[in-house]
Amino acid sequence: PQVFALASSRISTAAEPSSKQRNPPRVPNLIGGKFIESKSSTFLDVINPATQEVVSQLPLTTNEEFKAAVSAAKNAFPSWRNTPITTRQRIMLKLQEFIRRDMDKLALNVTTEQGKTLKDAQGDVFRGLEVVEHACGMATLQMGEYVSNVSHGIDTYSIREPLGVCAGICPFNFPAMIPLWMFPVAVTCGNTFVLKPSEKDPGAAIMLAELALEAGLPEGVLNIIHGTHDVVNAICDDDDIKAVSFVGSNVAGMHIYSRASAKGKRVQSNMGAKNHAIVMPDANVDATINALVAAGFGAAGQRCMALSTVVFVGGSKPWETELVERAKALKVNAGTEPDADLGPVISKQAKERIHSLIQSGVDEGARLLLDGRSIVVPRYESGNFIGPTILSNVTSNMECYKEEIFGPVLLLMEADSLEEAISIVNQNKYGNGAAIFTTSGVAARKFQTEIDAGQVGINVPIPVPLPFFSFTGNKASFAGDLNFYGKAGVNFYTQIKTITQNWKDSTGGSKVNLAMPTS
Ligand code: NAD
Repeated sequence: PQVFALASSRISTAAEPSSKQRNPPRVPNLIGGKFIESKSSTFLDVINPATQEVVSQLPLTTNEEFKAAVSAAKNAFPSWRNTPITTRQRIMLKLQEFIRRDMDKLALNVTTEQGKTLKDAQGDVFRGLEVVEHACGMATLQMGEYVSNVSHGIDTYSIREPLGVCAGICPFNFPAMIPLWMFPVAVTCGNTFVLKPSEKDPGAAIMLAELALEAGLPEGVLNIIHGTHDVVNAICDDDDIKAVSFVGSNVAGMHIYSRASAKGKRVQSNMGAKNHAIVMPDANVDATINALVAAGFGAAGQRCMALSTVVFVGGSKPWETELVERAKALKVNAGTEPDADLGPVISKQAKERIHSLIQSGVDEGARLLLDGRSIVVPRYESGNFIGPTILSNVTSNMECYKEEIFGPVLLLMEADSLEEAISIVNQNKYGNGAAIFTTSGVAARKFQTEIDAGQVGINVPIPVPLPFFSFTGNKASFAGDLNFYGKAGVNFYTQIKTITQNWKDSTGGSKVNLAMPTS
């Protein structure tokens, strides 16, 4: 296998002899089983958000290189689709073993490029690993259906076949998990794949691809190309790509959804969120406050399932002091430091944007209960840190409520009744996740039935489903009709062929019949 260890700043690629190794290293593309340095003249810096160090440089891949990746995937498809499903599954079995073996290296890379704490980075890898484990049972997941004797001597059956070349476009916030939502399911179904990692943290995807090759994935089955808008548009437009999986913001997601579907591709697009918690007055105080603090500030609020807004039925006052105390006690530090609860946000631009959304809340009349904007982290003074921030008396017309903040900022709202709280949540344009905290089964059941959100938590703050279910955001948080992973994920990466066979004994002779056949 190739050796590409971004975290230790060493690269050796098939194209680059070790004497030409660079510092910072250049992130290679993976085309036809080879890690190749791009011939592009434009590279972007991949920056450690805790230190501003340049970890590596990422190419804006040229169109020729993109075409080469697609054609490698296209050429690999005929023999890969005919490779026995058991063989494909065994490669996933190996891959899950290697991901476990290299868990610490992967997590360190995630922390270095993305900023989250090492423990959280392990979770990022682990939640992706679970999708690989699920793909190990693909033969059962991909089974077709059979009805015997639909007419005399005639049977009908359906089989789920791979589509061909599929592509995936990833966001920065889960650099290991989200690539693993995509390619393991796609390739185990028999497709070949072109992956475009986030330009902000591509290292984990490259390391995972190395492991996939080590596990025996044949050349060309998985390819990786780097870049931003241009290469994404090339993916949407390319006639050889049959399906596009996207995870990221709404601006990019809706653009990709319409551009790729206009070219006849199937698209699944997971997008932004504003996840609400409704807290009933009867909720368990201690457990609820811990859940709100963990889900609001974990990963510095940069999870698509972060709980960013709390609606307190009966008012937030009784909860505020303790919420602020526990949020204040969190340790903000570089993700590699053992005591860190939350690390930096991804970029200087993200930090500025979050600061200005906090300020807009204050300007529009919210009460700033806790302000994390002026935090300085010793030894990491140039990191993009924001401390836990809490705004109360937030209302639905405020900018900070309408926009996805994607930072360690918790908004507190109030409602007089569960009905009013549900109506606030349902009027929000996003529908990724929502949670209720209560000890009343009646309230929980009403919430479950009436809430417009794809993933519902009952005393569970971040209800991200495991891979035997699917990730089921709705409203503006999702476009498409087949969700990521689980049965829906397998359906997304396969199409149905329905076969009708006639093995009737026709020795008695038959007549020409021009009428529409009926049984
Ligand atoms: P982003 O949309 O900026 O980037 C995602 C990908 O799209 C990147 O690979 C980027 O290169 C590409 N891209 C960005 N703008 C583009 C454009 N205009 N045209 C073509 N390509 C473009 O998202 P991000 O900042 O990396 O990720 C954060 C967002 O992702 C948040 O909104 C978050 O809620 C969302 N997210 C959603 C889920 C989910 O499952 N619903 C999961 C994780 C993240």
